[in-house]
This record gives sequence, structure tokens and C-alpha cells, in this order.
Amino acid sequence: MGRKLLTEHINVPGIDTFEVYRKHGGYRSVEKALKTMTPDEVVEEVKKSGLRGRGGAGFPTGMKWSFLAKPVGVPRYLVCNADESEPGTFKDRHLMSRLPHLLIEGMITSSYALGANTSYIYIRGELLYVLRILEKAIAEAYANGFLGKNILGSGYDLDLHVHPGGGAYICGEETALLESLEGKRGNPRNKPPFPAVQGLYARPTVVNNVESISAVVPIINDGGEEYAKLGVGKSTGTKLISACGHLNKPGIYEIELGVPVEEFIYSDEYCGGIWKGRDLKAVVAGGSSVPILPKELILKTAAGENRLMTYESLSDGGFVTGTMLGSGGFIAMDETTCIVRNTWSFSRFYHHESCGQCSPCREGTGWLEKVLHRLEHGHGHMHDIDLLVSVAKQIEGNTICPLGEAAAWPVAAAVRHFRHEFEWHVTNPAEATRPGAYYSSKAAVGV
Ligand code: SF4
Repeated sequence: MGRKLLTEHINVPGIDTFEVYRKHGGYRSVEKALKTMTPDEVVEEVKKSGLRGRGGAGFPTGMKWSFLAKPVGVPRYLVCNADESEPGTFKDRHLMSRLPHLLIEGMITSSYALGANTSYIYIRGELLYVLRILEKAIAEAYANGFLGKNILGSGYDLDLHVHPGGGAYICGEETALLESLEGKRGNPRNKPPFPAVQGLYARPTVVNNVESISAVVPIINDGGEEYAKLGVGKSTGTKLISACGHLNKPGIYEIELGVPVEEFIYSDEYCGGIWKGRDLKAVVAGGSSVPILPKELILKTAAGENRLMTYESLSDGGFVTGTMLGSGGFIAMDETTCIVRNTWSFSRFYHHESCGQCSPCREGTGWLEKVLHRLEHGHGHMHDIDLLVSVAKQIEGNTICPLGEAAAWPVAAAVRHFRHEFEWHVTNPAEATRPGAYYSSKAAVGV
């Protein structure tokens, strides 16, 4: 079994209460940081750990912190992005609902490092039950002197608030989140200026994901170098993976980065193989916005090496033969899955969630959805397949925020790796809509 840095105590009865969490070593990182370390020393430990943002982009957290502008007399903010909404990704809600004090502890230690005296957790609006759990845990932290004025007699003050979103996926984009937190419509901002210079209320702000902030706790407890010993290369530490789809044991797994993808899918320690004794067809490894890969490319790189659960290995080959670790939303599809239908389903989501500010995304996501709809429903033409690729290309790189790419990449990758299946939908219009028709058709045998 790999080491568990975040979830070691997740099944302890009552671990969501301050008392039990404290008995299991909770809030040690706050004591250590506030009593024995300067804020810069905390930042240095996070840099040494090599921790990379766990929300999807994988940017080094310590480096992000060091970009924070520090004008004298101006407040700074730490905002936790708990607006987890990416299809296939459901790790943060689990962490927050079962271990609310872990996130609160990480928020206190991280806020101290950044010099923030007011911090926010922006949580997805649908997760009202988690918001209630967090509010109760925050009240306990205040009552026990870990939040509020002069925490542990250190002279450091911190107020922590939880703010629910209104149910828009786009508010997971950090600048849209900040707009929403300010009470405005959640539209992404043009960058620069970046949040590190002008973020919440135009003040320097760091926005970090729930898992990233939680990981600060073991980093400060054990030291950044210890954390960096886990993992492979620049993919250090552990990562929560939410595994779903056609697996024998879907669920949330904390893995040490570097586990081979094959082991993650087939070993009993993790997902236990593909359900119903079927074969694996494809995997979306990092949430719905990353390129889909067929079985042969998710298990091995194009060079024939074992694909590992790391940022580098999963992206080996770029978008021609690789993908991304993303948010760790691991969606496995068995051999009967219709790739056209799946791609259409993802496209519907992105079209619905586009904020509409920029034309390539607003119009392009609509085009993708419509063309995929007609292919899936037996009204497609051969030239529609290239039209999908053309629209995806025109979105990519031409939008304010990454939602455009999130909509374009899965479509381009599906056509790249499964063009024969799109063509089959054109040549077999009567069968196109029936689930599993492509799989059971004679034409598919041996493809
Ligand atoms: Fe809005 Fe899409 Fe433009 Fe992002 S890319 S700002 S979601 S229209």
C-alpha cells in the first residue's frame, strides 16, 4: 500500500470534529508554523516539496505563492477554490466532507505564509451539505483559538469565510471565481493583471485548490524534502484520483504519484479491473477537459514505455499520443462505449457552461454540440468529421479563459483516435443512436 498523507485518518469515527481530529495530530502544522517559522520559511518548505497545483493546471504551488505582490499596508487574500465541477472529478467534496479540519488547518498555515488576514473558501453551490460541515468545523476552530485574533498567542489574526457559488462551472476558473466572490456575474477576466497582483477586490490574491491547500499540512509537518521523496521526478507527493466509469471498484484513491496506469486500473489495491469482464476501450485521465486516449496509448507511451500516473508521463507525446493528469478525474470506458455519444455529451456540457464572453467559445461550443448531435443521431456527413476538427482548432488559443480549450481538446482527440467510429456513424445512420451498436456491428470487429 502506498503512503497516505491526506486520507490516513479519513475513516476514523468522528474525524470531522475538532476533538478527534486534534487527537490524531491535527493542527500541528499551525503550531509549528506560527510558533517556530517565519512566513517566508513556510513558503520555502512548500517550494522544496515540489507540490504542484492539484486543481488541474499543475503549476508549482510554492512558485505561485512567491509571485504574490506584497505592497506595504495593502491587504492580501488567500482564496480556496472549492468549486469542483469538472465532470469525472469528485475528490475535493469527499475531502472536505470527511476531513473539514484538514482544509481549515491548511488554510490557516497557508494564509500565515502569504500574510493574509482574511481568507475565503469558495465552494460549489450544490455542495450545501459540505458548506454546513465546513461552517461547523470553522466555528470549532474559532472556539479553540485556531482562528480569530492572536492565534495561539502568536500575534497573527485570521478570519475564514465560506462562500457558496451559484452553480456555474465557469466559476472554477480563478478570475471568474473572484468576480463571483465580489458579488458580480462570474465572467473570467482578461489577464494580465494576474490575481497575484490584482485579485480579490483588486488586491494581491492567491487562489489554490482544496487538495493543494490540504497538502500543505503534511508538507509543514514533515518538511518539504520529505514530501518530495514521494513520487517521481517533478511529480512529487501523493494525489487524489477520483476513478469512475466502467471499473470494478470506482472510488477515490490517494496514490503516490508514479503508479503505473495499468496497475491503477487492474490491481485490487485500486480499481480492480474493468467491470463485467469486458475489455478497456479508452480513458479520460484528468477530468472531461483532457484528451481521451485509447487503451493502447493510456497503458503505454508511443515509445512503448509504461505510462505512469504523473504529470510528465501522461503528457508524454503531447496531444498527438498523450494527455494530461489534470484534476485526477479518471474516467474508464469499456469496449461497448460509444465514443461519439460520449463526446457529444461532453460538448453539451461545455456549450451549456460557456459564459458567452468570447465568440470562438460561445459560437464554437454550440457548433461542436450541434455537429456531434447530428453525427450521433444518424444525420451526419463525412465532411462533418473534419468540420469538428476545424472548429476545435479555431477555438484553441483564441479565448479569454481555458474553457475554450476544455471544450475543443476532447473533440479533437476523439476524432484523432477514433475517426473510424465517427465514420461508422455516417455510414450506418439507422444504427448510429443505438447504444453499443458500433461495438456489436460487424464493421467494428477487428477495428
Ligand atoms: Fe467565457 Fe468561454 Fe470565453 Fe471562457 S472561453 S471567457 S467561458 S466565452
